[in-house]
Amino acid sequence: MTYEFKVSELAREFGVHRNTIRNWIKSGSIKAESGPGRQYVMKWEDYQALCEKFGRKPCLNPRQDYDPAMLQKISADVALPPLAINNRKKTLCKDPTWADTCLTCGTCASACPISGVDGLDPRKIVRMAVLGLEDELLASEWPWKCTMCGKCEEACPMNVEIVQLIRCIRSRRDRDKVPGPIHKGVSMCLERGNNLGIPKEDFLFLLEELGEELAEEGCPGFATPVDAYGARLLVTVNSKEPFAEPDDMKWWWKIFYAADESWTISADNWEGVNWGLFSGDDEAMKTIVGRIVNNLRRLNCSALLLPE
Ligand code: SF4
Ligand code: SF4
Repeated sequence: MTYEFKVSELAREFGVHRNTIRNWIKSGSIKAESGPGRQYVMKWEDYQALCEKFGRKPCLNPRQDYDPAMLQKISADVALPPLAINNRKKTLCKDPTWADTCLTCGTCASACPISGVDGLDPRKIVRMAVLGLEDELLASEWPWKCTMCGKCEEACPMNVEIVQLIRCIRSRRDRDKVPGPIHKGVSMCLERGNNLGIPKEDFLFLLEELGEELAEEGCPGFATPVDAYGARLLVTVNSKEPFAEPDDMKWWWKIFYAADESWTISADNWEGVNWGLFSGDDEAMKTIVGRIVNNLRRLNCSALLLPE
């Protein structure tokens, strides 16, 4: 017994894009032969096995008898081999299904605020990953021009995880080839506890000085709380503020003062901007997050404010 289908019918039945079905046929995940017209034929047992993988009942008549609930089900259960094109293997797309579903519709490109800057186009990044052009992507500046705002992903009708892909590309670059300030900031933060390497004594002196100014500027009795055990809120700081715009910190503090908030800043590892996120350095990111968690525990705070 055999099972005849059109690509569009099988796609509808299993709730995946028709390109996905074509890719499965090409890669041999679906063992089907092309038949007359645009039809394909597969063994009934193979069709049953595919249904089993998706946890659904076989359709006796694929042209009428399909389960609309399956449209909600994505095809993550089906393990496909990495697609090889011109002997290139794609490894950036860990889950083959999301990349294979890209329609090349360009919605991501129209949503991207920097689309066109030096030729950047999120759709091209996705296609390059799908085609296994990994060396080219790793060498490209596009992933580094991206702000990782996520607008492309939000707009994508097929839920392609574009930001995750871009971050993955960044993580694969040799660290000494990561664009200057980002990697330097990460290294500096790991070494000195903040991205700009501000010495502890300078930071503490500045906090004290700003606190005194604020007390004279309408917040009588104000003193900047540093390492205040048991404060409710732990406030982290973007190092650019103490470095270049210290007065900006006072706006937050005025609000805390007016709200009678219980808050504090840690004397160490106070950086609130984790550039490991942007450089694709998971280990560094984890370390920096871990330090903030340690500060929360050490000072027994119950809430955290990240300025970014
Ligand atoms: S919006 Fe999604 S489906 Fe369309 S081209 Fe971009 S990644 Fe592909
Ligand atoms: S995440 Fe990057 S590629 Fe996507 S819209 Fe933002 S800047 Fe563009």
